[in-house]
Amino acid sequence: MKKIAVLTSGGDAPGMNACIRAVVRTALYYNIDVYGVERGWAGLIDGNLTRMETRSVSGLIHKGGTFLKTARCPEFVELEGQRRAAETLAAYGIEGVVAIGGDGTFRGAVDLSNNFGVKVVGVPGTIDNDLAYTDYTLGFDSAVNTVLWAMNNLRDTMTSHDRVSLLEVMGRRCGDIALYAGVAGGAEYVLVPEVPYDLDEIASSIRKSRMRGKTSNMIILAEGAGNREEICAAIRDKTGIDPKVTVLGHIQRGGSPTMSDRILAGKFGVKAVEVLREEKDSCAVGIRNNKIVTVPFPDVFSAEKRFDKSLYETSKILGL
Ligand code: ATP
Repeated sequence: MKKIAVLTSGGDAPGMNACIRAVVRTALYYNIDVYGVERGWAGLIDGNLTRMETRSVSGLIHKGGTFLKTARCPEFVELEGQRRAAETLAAYGIEGVVAIGGDGTFRGAVDLSNNFGVKVVGVPGTIDNDLAYTDYTLGFDSAVNTVLWAMNNLRDTMTSHDRVSLLEVMGRRCGDIALYAGVAGGAEYVLVPEVPYDLDEIASSIRKSRMRGKTSNMIILAEGAGNREEICAAIRDKTGIDPKVTVLGHIQRGGSPTMSDRILAGKFGVKAVEVLREEKDSCAVGIRNNKIVTVPFPDVFSAEKRFDKSLYETSKILGL
């Protein structure tokens, strides 16, 4: 393959820039021409492509977001949008695409590949860690570290005021951000969509811990695990204590990527280009048991997300 393109699509995640850099530099290393596509699939439809050189990706490794920008593109879900994207690629003589994004981005990749014969390699870029075929997605580690930073600050103020804090974090239907941050940040209660919880039990545990002399508690709530106002109301009714709510929101999506995410970005980027260089079938790259793997798209979508029950049990033991 002599010409490839790279794009970022869907929600942004720390490490996307580092991964674009890795794709560009690996392509150039192998004497493959590489184009950056602006605003994901929309940029392919509109023909927003720029030829990348080594210096095009200088000074980016430490920056959050994506300098290529990202977008949601409803037109690309339709065959006509995909046709226009394929025509752009053909006009440039581009045979392969590296698409960095989440589940939706990968579905677009499959359509472009199946309907128009373009080879596409997916790189899992999303803070949610909700792609089952890979142990980790790019941006997850950075997001968890951002949550930890927030927990540290919250802990200062909640211990000064003897408060119960409820911190809501992202993750959609996946509780990994809450779970990992909960364990690493020492939250007393970790509420995730994967495990049912009992608010009576939590309230009674808070009451008992107060009697033992513990004056503050932190509850970390994954956004998909329940309604924060209802949870607070239940705790207030049963304990007389009004939890203070913090919703971290999009702060989790930004910031400088961590060491782990930068290294993952580098490894994913190198592997993605090598797959295209060897003209292998469209697939997604991932990491399993600390090894970089390639997984065919049908297996990407049929994989079942494994929740780390043992880490969850750890959170319960340590949160006592
Ligand atoms: P995140 O997990 O961060 O939200 P994502 O990649 O899942 O990222 P989406 O908005 O779901 O984000 O998808 C990105 C883009 O991929 C969509 O705007 C659309 O252009 C394309 N896409 C999504 N689903 C499909 C589909 N079923 N077929 C073709 N293209 C799709």
